[in-house]
Order: sequence, then C-alpha cells, then structure tokens
Amino acid sequence: MKKRIGLLYGGKSAEHEVSLSTARAVTQALNFDDYDVFPIFITQEGEWRKGAQLLAPVEAIDQLQFGKENNQSLPNNISSFLPSTQGTGEDDNSLDVIFPLLHGPNGEDGTVQGLLEVLNLPYIGNGVLASSAGMDKVVMKQLFAIAGLKQVPFVHFIRNEWKKDQSYWLGKIETELAWPVFVKPANLGSSVGISQAANREELIEAVDLALKYDRKIIIEQGIKAREIEMGVLGNDTPKCSVPGEIKPLKAFYDYQAKYKDGNTAMIIPADVSQEVKATLIDHAIKAFKVLDCSGLVRADFFVTDDDEVVINEVNTLPGFTPTSMFPLLWQHTGVNYSELIDQLIELAIERHAEKQ
Ligand code: ATP
Ligand code: MG
Ligand code: MG
Ligand code: MG
Repeated sequence: MKKRIGLLYGGKSAEHEVSLSTARAVTQALNFDDYDVFPIFITQEGEWRKGAQLLAPVEAIDQLQFGKENNQSLPNNISSFLPSTQGTGEDDNSLDVIFPLLHGPNGEDGTVQGLLEVLNLPYIGNGVLASSAGMDKVVMKQLFAIAGLKQVPFVHFIRNEWKKDQSYWLGKIETELAWPVFVKPANLGSSVGISQAANREELIEAVDLALKYDRKIIIEQGIKAREIEMGVLGNDTPKCSVPGEIKPLKAFYDYQAKYKDGNTAMIIPADVSQEVKATLIDHAIKAFKVLDCSGLVRADFFVTDDDEVVINEVNTLPGFTPTSMFPLLWQHTGVNYSELIDQLIELAIERHAEKQ
C-alpha cells in the first residue's frame, strides 16, 4: 500500500528559503508510485497551510494553491490540522510519516518534533532531545566535551550578561582565545548571523549582529584547517558515509556560498588518510550517540595540517537540496537521493514502532 507522506516546509525562520528549496527537491525525488504526498506549508508569519495531495513534483512549491479553509494557525486548530493518530489508511486525513523539512528555530530545534510526538505521528529524523541539543551550539559543545571529542576553545554568554559587563567578556575573550574568532548566534544554522572578527572593534560589531538573531552567543577560536563533513544514517546502529570536503571560495562557508552561489567546491570522497578517516567515523558516531540522535545527522569537522580531527558541530536536519553535502555524501557511498529518502522513511517508522 502507498505510504502517505506529509511534507512540512517553509517555517518562521531565517532559513525559510532554504526549506523551500529542500521541499522542491524532495518532491522531485519522491517516487509518486510509492507515496501519496501532502504539502503542509508554514508561512513566514507562522501560519500553517495544508494543500491538496500532490499528483506530481512541483517546482513552485511555495506558490501552491492552498484552500482558504486550510489557512489555519496553531495552536487552536492543531487537532483538526493533523491527524491525532498514525494513519490507518481509512481516515482520509491520516498520514504515515511527516518529513519535517524545516531548518533553524521552530524546525530542527525540537519544537516541531515535540508537537509531532504529542500527536503520536512518526516523523523523519531526530527526536526532541537530539534536535534541541543539536540546535544550541553551546549545549552541543558541552555534550561533545563529555564524549571526549576535541573542539576549539570557546566562550559563551547571553545578551543580558554582555549588556551588563561588556568589558568583562571582552577581557575574557582576549585572554582565552586568539584572533581571529568566530561569533555565532547559539541557535541557528546556514551561517546566518555568523561573522569572523580579527580585533576588538570587529568583535563588538559581530556580537551586535549575532544578538539580532539570538539571546545566546558563542565565540569560538578561529582555526585554520580543512573542512570535512560526514553523513550519519541510522537509529541504534548508525552508519557513516564517506567523508566530503568543502572548499569555500570565500573567507568562510557563509550563507551566500551555501545556497546562492552554488560554486563552493565539494570534494567527495575527501582526500584523507585511512587513519583520519577512521577517526572521523569514530567521532561522528560518538557525536551521534552523545546527542541521542536518530535518522540522520551531518557532522562537520576541521582537519588540521597535522591531521588533528576537531569537531565543529552536527546538523540534525542537514541541507537536503540537490547541491547539499549530505545527499551527495550518501550518493558517493552508494545510496542515491530517492533511496536515501526511502531509508529515512523506514527509519522513522522503525523508531516510532520502538517507542510503543
Ligand atoms: P551549517 O549548519 O549550515 O553548517 P552553521 O550556521 O551551523 O552552519 P558553522 O558550521 O558553525 O555554522 O560555521 C559556518 C562556517 O564558518 C564553517 O563551515 C566554517 O567555514 C566557518 N567557521 C565556523 N567556525 C569556525 C571556527 N571556529 N574556525 C574557523 N572557521 C569556522
Ligand atoms: Mg550548523
Ligand atoms: Mg543547521
Ligand atoms: Mg556547519
């Protein structure tokens, strides 16, 4: 029997546009002979819109006709919006799996995952804990430290602490870290709000920018290294893809380079020694496990000239567009885009069944 897949995309986040590209690509890859596909679009204002069943892949996924009666907002109409039980096939409104194609806050941070848990719906990817821990770069790094993973030194604070005693934080950063540093909102992705700072003046500017996106900021020691990424796929027995290298053509791999220019070089498989590869696999799995991940994760590393492997982060809902690293890593490991989606759907159903 055909599985009924709900594609949840858009969202009230800085990564709304990225989500639209992902949704477009996924509808193009889904085999419509195996799946009934239902679009659920969240506008930039946070309004949920349910579309009619898709009968073919759609290019303009954000331009779909959503009936006026389907323009609903959460939480008032949630129970009528999504089925309250897993699909039996009898209920016209039922879905077998939700594919959350949302990035950033309210998407990959555990909030939507929590909603889907409450509704008892299977969904693709990481659960509440892994999603929220993985979204917060500070919490994530604290957990990595527990797992014994090597990282760059970092300092973190919340807006209020910075406002209260800016000179304390400047002093701490200048003492504990060396220039340049990377300033990041703790809870974001796609390089949004991230900048590099080479001195105190730039640092203050960078913090001001990052504070526009988040109340929590992380300042990291800059590292000169190659950037290697690993795909991890699975639930209790996760597997790793081959490593891939990104070569940003700009100063760093920023939002523009990732999603607009499309000219960032990706080298798959990355040219690393067997020893480095083994360490990358070991560390990617450790990161997956310490965050209690499920489904998928993209683990991002720095590899220094003397082959030191330093973890940067994991992404619990990595970019999934045709030019994204995660699907390409799996393609080079022998799992093509459509097969990858099939596997993720199976993993979602398996994890849901285990919880019962
Ligand atoms: P995404 O989730 O899309 O990978 P992100 O917003 O979570 O991005 P990071 O991966 O942490 O952000 O950083 C974005 C990019 O900035 C990295 O790919 C790298 O090029 C650069 N970068 C980040 N932190 C450092 C650092 N400490 N030293 C050197 N470069 C860094
Ligand atoms: Mg990230
Ligand atoms: Mg991210
Ligand atoms: Mg990254």
